[in-house]
Amino acid sequence: MTKHKFPPIVVLTGAGVSAESGLPTFRGTGGLWQGYRVEEVANPAAFRRHPELVHDFYNWRRKALLDPRVQPNPAHRALAELQQLVGPEHFYLVTQNVDDLHERAGAKQVHHLHGELLKVRCSETGEVWPWVTDLHVETPHPSRPELRGTLRPHIVWFGEQPLKLTEVYRHLQQCGLFIAIGTSGNVYPAAGFVQATPPGCRRIELNLEDTPTSPEFHEHRRGPAGDLVPALVRELQVLWDSSSSEC
Ligand code: NAD
Repeated sequence: MTKHKFPPIVVLTGAGVSAESGLPTFRGTGGLWQGYRVEEVANPAAFRRHPELVHDFYNWRRKALLDPRVQPNPAHRALAELQQLVGPEHFYLVTQNVDDLHERAGAKQVHHLHGELLKVRCSETGEVWPWVTDLHVETPHPSRPELRGTLRPHIVWFGEQPLKLTEVYRHLQQCGLFIAIGTSGNVYPAAGFVQATPPGCRRIELNLEDTPTSPEFHEHRRGPAGDLVPALVRELQVLWDSSSSEC
């Protein structure tokens, strides 16, 4: 039987991959929003206490994402090209980002560990809908008008369980190349994904600077994702072109 040219690839992206598109990382904003620490706004207790404040935060971020100046950058595009090259069944893209820039660049089946800014969810029924406008406590429920105030951003808040972790760990356990891009290695469980890869897996970290998980990686490349990711993808393309499909 003909083997695939590459071992399965898992790519983990964080806020750094979207920074050059004009979406600041939390660290880039000093972790503050209107004087609040992001952790204080992005949690279920804050939503129970001050739902409008939490809605304001996500309305602001949704608007920022939909600003026409915010577009995928070369890193998003290179990852979509890599996925197309090796085939979606050998390429798993898991992101901590809640933006849709990977999809806009052409990536398919992106797994958003922490949810998506352009979706809302009913906290009663679990239904999820695409959403591009502002959301408020009094926004009518799309399918159950008798429910009031149950709509929330489709975002995994601090203290909540990231989405589809079993699927993520299944991919991690089978992967032969793990690439982490623009993630600080501070937010768990994503920060621990590198440790869930098998012993023979090659691990590459792309970031502006060292992170607490850097020692877990075999290779470190330092610089902006918009330069580093296309360069890495070009190297992989050369390997792909030169490798026989039997190796
Ligand atoms: P983080 O803000 O903690 O860390 C960002 C990392 O990216 C840092 O290590 C930084 O050195 C690196 N970085 C910054 N600019 C870079 C660039 N141009 N090229 C390469 N690396 C760069 O982000 P995180 O690790 O993703 O975790 C924090 C949480 O922030 C996540 O849960 C995520 O959902 C959320 N977040 C998401 C967005 C988004 O969706 N675009 C934006 C801000 C925060």
